[in-house]
Amino acid sequence: MKVLDKKKAIIIGAGPAGLTAALELLKRSNMDVTVLERDTVVGGLAKTVEYKKCRYDIGPHHFITESERVTAWWQEIAEGDFFQHKRYTRIYYNRHFFNYPLEPVNVIRGLNVIECARSIFSYVWVRFFPIKEVSSFEDWVTNQFGHRLFSIFFKTYTEKVWGIPCNEISADWAAQRIKGFSLSKAIFYAFFGRFFSSKNKPRTINDIFHYPARGAGTFWEKVAARVTSSPQAAIHLQQNVTRIEHDRHRIISVSTHDLTAPSVGAAVPLIRHEADDFLSTMPLQQLILNLDPLPPKPIIKAAQALRYRGLITINLIVGRPHVSADHWIYVHEKTVRMGRIGNMNNFSLKMVDDPAKHTALSLEYFTYVDEPFWFKPDYELIELAKYELEKIGLVRATAVIDGMVLRTPEAYPVYDANYKEHLNAVLGYLSTFKNLHLMGRNGMHRYNNMDVAMLSALDVVDRMIIEQQSHNISESPQKQSSAARL
Ligand SMILES: Cc1cc2nc3c(=O)[nH]c(=O)nc-3n(C[C@H](O)[C@H](O)[C@H](O)COP(=O)(O)OP(=O)(O)OC[C@H]3O[C@@H](n4cnc5c(N)ncnc54)[C@H](O)[C@@H]3O)c2cc1C
Repeated sequence: MKVLDKKKAIIIGAGPAGLTAALELLKRSNMDVTVLERDTVVGGLAKTVEYKKCRYDIGPHHFITESERVTAWWQEIAEGDFFQHKRYTRIYYNRHFFNYPLEPVNVIRGLNVIECARSIFSYVWVRFFPIKEVSSFEDWVTNQFGHRLFSIFFKTYTEKVWGIPCNEISADWAAQRIKGFSLSKAIFYAFFGRFFSSKNKPRTINDIFHYPARGAGTFWEKVAARVTSSPQAAIHLQQNVTRIEHDRHRIISVSTHDLTAPSVGAAVPLIRHEADDFLSTMPLQQLILNLDPLPPKPIIKAAQALRYRGLITINLIVGRPHVSADHWIYVHEKTVRMGRIGNMNNFSLKMVDDPAKHTALSLEYFTYVDEPFWFKPDYELIELAKYELEKIGLVRATAVIDGMVLRTPEAYPVYDANYKEHLNAVLGYLSTFKNLHLMGRNGMHRYNNMDVAMLSALDVVDRMIIEQQSHNISESPQKQSSAARL
């Protein structure tokens, strides 16, 4: 009898979605699982990088979710290395620190009475005269908060993140990120939030999260260790998927460039991997452009129109034990380029070599990879970061004793005005491949956090298992599932 569930799955990407799918497949099926990852480490955007014994995420990654399934998963893997934090974050705008979530007294103090009156007026105005055709981020937020508060608390930061004006950003992004939230709710929770448990607060203002002692990436290293403890699984690092061969609506194989191979001399041959199922978290644009044969021209054009926002993190060691109590600070101020400052000491003192002497700060700068900013030399970027830290009054430039720069080209899938049309064309085409499963953040071109990226992976595995079970039943009614438990 044919053993139908003894199949092979290839997973592209060892980020949160890829690793979640790998472990779930191993727990719930008898499949062989191979994960192909182009980076030197696992974790994807959620990895943690060490520099001179100080540890930095790619922007601090806090663990927070509304999903019980994800919570149970996290607790099981973390085995206690998952410390609860009460979030402390602020917004820096107009030379004032505003607590975030907003607190009325603090807002009034920071904005002055006239600005407050203007904000209230513009909020009342929009209640009576809302924008009828909501097409952009600006329209959506203005309808929830009024135009004045939109300008103060959303416009500059959002434009720093995306590099495009708020009226050219799709309303989908606001609806996904701040859905169910409005000024009335912000004020309500500011006054009465303490009477609600963190579970019952909207995610936007939920202030309880978890974090491992030595960085978000260590969690994903643990998942990877569980995956590779199975004789049925392997994770191959530094394997860049560059060719995806298909025939008659099925993916046949993927081929990788081995990035460990010497780059001089004869061309390095591609390594070909065949499988029954392919689960992809690589950016959709890359996936389309690596298909062999290539898809029809309109699909290629649609994929090329999908955009990604890059991120430069400038990671500094400051020669002071205390800089501020914030987990992170959103920098809305227009006069500096930085977007956010993460203070790794406040996530865990194990993130820094000597907490009695040093603070590890991670400054985020958003940019497109074809902008001159992307190509600035590291020493210039470190000087800029020092200058801007002093400018906002947080740290004197001379207190910074060292720094390191990381570049992440595809940090954010961009939701510009036309992205949906392009995305639908790409997804429509890819849905014709029955053994290709898309998941994760760039893998679906969705602005997902770790938990939602994981849920998309769990969903893919659920569907694969159901399909496999129905296949097995139709082939052999007596056959029992032989799921291998890890
Ligand atoms: C600055 C920043 C801060 C964030 N903060 C938080 C937070 O606080 N909390 C939270 O929950 N989420 C946060 N996120 C989101 C979180 O990082 C993502 O949701 C999560 O990493 C998505 O997981 P993924 O597996 O889908 O994708 P990724 O993490 O992007 O992983 C994809 C993997 O695929 C690999 N890959 C890509 N192309 C190829 C190829 N051709 N061949 C082989 N491998 C390939 C990549 O190297 C990568 O390892 C943040 C993101 C950013 C950018």
